[in-house]
Amino acid sequence: MYEREREDLVISLKEKGIKDERVLEAMNKVPRHDFVQSVMIPHAYKDVALPIGYGQTISQPYTVAIMTEKLKLKENSKVLEIGTGSGYQAAILREMGMQVFSIERNEDIYRKVQKFFDDNSLRIHCRCSDGTIGWSEFAPYDGIIVTAGSPTIPENLKKQLNIDGRMVIPVGGKTSQILKILHKTAEDEFDIDEIANFAFVPLIGREGWN
Ligand code: SAH
Repeated sequence: MYEREREDLVISLKEKGIKDERVLEAMNKVPRHDFVQSVMIPHAYKDVALPIGYGQTISQPYTVAIMTEKLKLKENSKVLEIGTGSGYQAAILREMGMQVFSIERNEDIYRKVQKFFDDNSLRIHCRCSDGTIGWSEFAPYDGIIVTAGSPTIPENLKKQLNIDGRMVIPVGGKTSQILKILHKTAEDEFDIDEIANFAFVPLIGREGWN
């Protein structure tokens, strides 16, 4: 279902500058309409963020694509996501052959997405906690992707990133952020790139918003 719509979406992502074939392929495969509320299904293949309930959103496809591309992951890399939400971003990473760990702080959202992963045999390791602290048990990660906007870059996440790993995280105010791309070149050393103009829901937690 919706193959044609998905293909058109992927074409539009290419036109917007997404180049990584593995990202485009994964987005061509993962059925985004399964990750949205039934009333939103007609909008599932538009390049827009959509509400998923509880005041949260599934990110815009372009945002998912650019963040995933910027992680520059090798196959079978270990990735930590903060903000599982609908599970779509995690499913894209899984489709690309990554080992995916994902943290969601909202218990209702967590229960729903965990059931969705189970029902769809998606092997994604998910837990309910404050993601600003990270998930030390499985660290270090080759990639960390934060899908909510933070006032600063949480120290714990910097520590849990592997040398040569990358973290993508929206940093700024509550309504608009800059996407920061950190490349860890040595212990406590990072090269940082930026892309302007993103609007994520707030990252709430010990090293996020109160
Ligand atoms: N990646 C998601 C987008 C989810 S929106 C997707 O593909 O659908 C951001 C999510 O981050 C929300 O579900 C919100 O509850 C969660 N969140 C906010 N602060 C968090 C924190 N400190 N730790 C974990 N999850 C958090």
